Amino acid sequence: MADELNFAIEIPCDGDGFVLLQCSQCGELFKLRPDDCESDEVAEICCPSCGIASDSYVTDDVLEFAMAVAKNEAFSVLRKEMKELERKTKGRAVSFKAGNFPKPDDVPVLQPSIDTLAVATCTHCRRQMKVSLLLSMSVFVCPLCGVSNFNDR
Ligand SMILES: [Zn+2]
Ligand SMILES: [Zn+2]
Repeated sequence: MADELNFAIEIPCDGDGFVLLQCSQCGELFKLRPDDCESDEVAEICCPSCGIASDSYVTDDVLEFAMAVAKNEAFSVLRKEMKELERKTKGRAVSFKAGNFPKPDDVPVLQPSIDTLAVATCTHCRRQMKVSLLLSMSVFVCPLCGVSNFNDR
């Protein structure tokens, strides 16, 4: 049996290519482009609302999704092993029958878009992000360069 389970979880982008992130400090939701998140020029990502850089911006939805995928993945590997054992022991004095495994959980549907977020462009680094309407109309910290953007419209 393999010691490790390797599988990738794809976090869906919205129609504009943004992924949803959530600040673990204040719970603020915002969106960034994956390219910008992974860019070498971006030292750390900070929250547009509280300005604090967190270790993790994974939303609860994504976490739940990842857990469900991991569980199903583990079950399917186990089920394969059991079937193999069943096949190998068939007709022997001691045989093994794989019982019924619990059905895989329904993987929750990830909602990539939250419509209350508005596209904002940082006046400093010119990168685009999506922040809550409230922030975009007042002041937000650019998650990518850390400069505060004031809306002076
Ligand atoms: Zn925050
Ligand atoms: Zn910026």
